Amino acid sequence: MNKFGLTDEVLDSQIVETKQEIDKKCECCAGDMDFDPSTGGLLCPFCGHK
Ligand SMILES: [Zn+2]
Repeated sequence: MNKFGLTDEVLDSQIVETKQEIDKKCECCAGDMDFDPSTGGLLCPFCGHK
């Protein structure tokens, strides 16, 4: 049981880091950038800027 608890903590910290990394503003419209899995980069959902 302790083993699974430890794994959950590691996953949580990784998710937080990922969210902070995505929290960037678009250079074109200053909107919140989203992560696009198809390109592996950031994509603006408002103007399509990558
Ligand atoms: Zn934009």
